[in-house]
Amino acid sequence: MADQNYDAIVIGAGFGGGTCAGLLAKKGLKVLLSEKNSVAGGKAMSLSKNGYSYTAWVVIGAPVQDNLYQVILDELGVSDQAKLVVPKNSGSIYKTPAGKFVAMPDAPSDSLDPNIIFEWLGIPLDRRETALQFFAQLAVMPPEQVAEFRGTNLHDYFAQADIPKSLYAFLVSLCCDGMFMVPVDSLDAAEAIASLQAIFTRGGGIFCEGGYGRVGEALCEGVRRHGGDVMMSTRVNKILVEEGRVAGIETDKGSFRAPIVISNAGIQPTVLKLIDQEHFDKSYLNYVRDLIPSLSLLGYRYFLSKPVTEAAFGVIFSDDSPWSLERFQKARAGQAPRDGVLYYEVPSNYDPNAAPEGKQILMTGSFCPPDPDVGKGDVADWAAAGEETLFGAFPELPGLIESKDFYWTRSVSNATRDATVPGAGGETIGIGQIVGQCGDDKPSIKGPIAGLYYVGADAGGTGIGTQQAIESGMKVAETVARYHWLRAGVD
Ligand SMILES: Cc1cc2nc3c(=O)[nH]c(=O)nc-3n(C[C@H](O)[C@H](O)[C@H](O)COP(=O)(O)OP(=O)(O)OC[C@H]3O[C@@H](n4cnc5c(N)ncnc54)[C@H](O)[C@@H]3O)c2cc1C
Repeated sequence: MADQNYDAIVIGAGFGGGTCAGLLAKKGLKVLLSEKNSVAGGKAMSLSKNGYSYTAWVVIGAPVQDNLYQVILDELGVSDQAKLVVPKNSGSIYKTPAGKFVAMPDAPSDSLDPNIIFEWLGIPLDRRETALQFFAQLAVMPPEQVAEFRGTNLHDYFAQADIPKSLYAFLVSLCCDGMFMVPVDSLDAAEAIASLQAIFTRGGGIFCEGGYGRVGEALCEGVRRHGGDVMMSTRVNKILVEEGRVAGIETDKGSFRAPIVISNAGIQPTVLKLIDQEHFDKSYLNYVRDLIPSLSLLGYRYFLSKPVTEAAFGVIFSDDSPWSLERFQKARAGQAPRDGVLYYEVPSNYDPNAAPEGKQILMTGSFCPPDPDVGKGDVADWAAAGEETLFGAFPELPGLIESKDFYWTRSVSNATRDATVPGAGGETIGIGQIVGQCGDDKPSIKGPIAGLYYVGADAGGTGIGTQQAIESGMKVAETVARYHWLRAGVD
């Protein structure tokens, strides 16, 4: 049974919350981690069913080398709890302008050779020099130069380099759409360049046996091993505020007190739902309401009677896949095609226990708006566009389907963050990494009430979703521990 008084309480066992709680416990604080679900991992939780086990949806980890999953597992002493794997076989597929689906040639999984890519993308010889120079410039750009692109959108950065259309589609679809889930002409170029560099130099495509939820569960184990308490299936209904300071939480299992509360529930649900609004200035409430979420993925988990592919993951895209803001808005209004990039993951091709013998599970993800209340017809149209792309690349797949599960924005919101702002809640990443919401413009990890902090993809980190959540957890733990020790003796 959890004690009633803590040094710090963390709400939510996503990658951000779990990391932060584990590190604070290791630093000697008395920590409580409260998670509403019965499983940890949040947006990267695992599911299992009928002998299959998998991350709830397509989650492709990156970078491969020096990834923060391993760093935090080691730091908390729980690397025995989650096994990371780097599959040999990836299977990205380019749909040529002639409509042919062409698989990416085999390449080492820890590096991308530009010449292999140029050949595959049909880049004419006379354009390759420009493309190569662009790659080289991007790969070695020093951090201070990358920072100069803060505030520029990625489309404008690519446009000034005049790269071939298929290379543009490759970079946007294979890397940036999936990593950030925002239109390319809204994506902050500095954020994107740093992540592209990480993938080119340190590889992309790392997974966890049993699904990424195992990392989330391991983080909870880290909290316990360092003396903290973890309460699963415990929803926080309210963050208590007394005399302008946080005082603890109210849950369906009782109240718990702490002078520090760190929320992994999302900045919008935290401010607009968990705390009485009288404690905030109107301007802060408006600032939080106006934050733009990332877009979302929906898709299927196909349970197949036999394998359809040897690839563990891949991206299916064409020159027309990249989402600009205008194209996305038109598609949302039903005035433009809804087909864009499609991501797929095949857990049984990197984890021997992911599927019963001889069977295969394949999961997909394609773009849709983040609104959990998007209409049924709309959802069906977005889903159909994704499925058409998948079946184009794997024509034999429909005949192998024994059953399929569908997930969409409502599933993501129900499993993770509450919908508190119209049109938001089912976002894939968190607050969008768009121009104006990154770097110094990203929400602060510190809330405007003493003792209130935010952790996870909304504040404090950079890069791809899961990595930025962990990076945020590390940063918040550092700041909170300092605050705690400096305050020690004050209360
Ligand atoms: C479909 C999909 C595909 C993705 N693909 C990728 C990918 O390929 N690569 C990648 O790196 N990232 C991917 N991501 C994004 C990545 O999973 C997230 O950005 C990251 O996991 C977010 O972590 P977080 O710590 O910010 O919070 P979350 O994962 O949102 O965790 C928040 C936790 O808080 C809990 N919580 C919320 N409210 C309460 C409450 N009131 N009381 C108690 N607990 C509460 C939730 O249940 C949850 O466990 C994907 C996400 C989705 C949905």
